[in-house]
Amino acid sequence: MAYQFEITKTEHPKAKPDQANLDFGTLFTDHMFIMDYEEGKGWFDGRIVPYGPLAMDPASTVFHYGQEMFEGLKAYKTKADKILLFRPDRNAARMNASNDRICMPIIDEALTLEAIKALVKVDSDWIPTAPGTSLYIRPFVISTEAFLGVRAAKQYKFIIIMSPVGAYYKGGLAPTKIYVEDEYVRAVSGGTGFAKVGGNYAASLKAQQKAYAKGYAQVLWLDGVERKYVEEIGTSNAFFVIDDEVITSPLTGSILPGITRDSVLTLLKKWGIKVSEKRLTIQEVADASKDGHLKEVFATGTAAVISPVGELGWMNQSYIINAQQIGPISQRIYDTLVGIQTGELADEFGWTVEV
Ligand SMILES: *Cc1c(COP(=O)(O)O)cnc(C)c1O
Repeated sequence: MAYQFEITKTEHPKAKPDQANLDFGTLFTDHMFIMDYEEGKGWFDGRIVPYGPLAMDPASTVFHYGQEMFEGLKAYKTKADKILLFRPDRNAARMNASNDRICMPIIDEALTLEAIKALVKVDSDWIPTAPGTSLYIRPFVISTEAFLGVRAAKQYKFIIIMSPVGAYYKGGLAPTKIYVEDEYVRAVSGGTGFAKVGGNYAASLKAQQKAYAKGYAQVLWLDGVERKYVEEIGTSNAFFVIDDEVITSPLTGSILPGITRDSVLTLLKKWGIKVSEKRLTIQEVADASKDGHLKEVFATGTAAVISPVGELGWMNQSYIINAQQIGPISQRIYDTLVGIQTGELADEFGWTVEV
């Protein structure tokens, strides 16, 4: 089925940013996608309009009870001037898992894909081409019904905005210092940890600030019940290389099922590297570090792709990983994923989608 979205072009296009100095998420393109939902009517009136503020009733339930979900993916321009999205079908599917968890209406995944493609086409000259840069795409859904009371809203908006972003690490893959958080928790099974919903991130800020104050770049989350098993690193999935085995947490409901995580697992299996999705305690990680068995630790996510960890801080002790250098597995995954995403390497898994 083909979807038609009405397009209203801006009369005031903004100046394009200097590609050498792009930050993450500070500038937005000229247009955005909006679609409305009303109970009984469903989703309607998908349209592309000039980027700008929304007029909202202050009683809109999103401001009070937080019915909000978001996604994140990137568009890349290849050397041959093709535009590629990386596994956008996975974002569209995960969006519905998040929508369902917080009682928001699901969206036809084909429509989500068409909306993303249509918006990217309209603002295609915003896709930066300098090495390491891309166009970050942020679809999100908010409840807009003006109503005070706790129940699922009857009105929503699905919006997509886009931001040209720079290389996450300007000087290459720089290993980070990570604080193992043993007081605050991010999520528990049965909660909303597997969904990309705004409330999860509000709840995580306190721990992040604590880590910053102690001189760390991010937190490593432990499980919310026993504070014993490693789960995620900030807003990324966590991988540990112990001897010749790569270990990541299983998807037990408290972990966000990252699309990068899934891609990394697929690559490692293809390369014949031993991978396990299993629970791992922070004590096992510390012991492996002390005994010289902990080879690499890295985080995976759309924003940075791979973020190597150079140091873990846990219970007033610091554990240095791979002499604070990026490890061979991290580097190989990074080069391969970025190569596929940017069209430099063959896409044997059919992960990229041309706009
Ligand atoms: C978005 C996110 C990830 C990474 O998911 P990708 O699909 O790889 O970008 C991991 N953990 C959390 C908590 C996240 O919000």
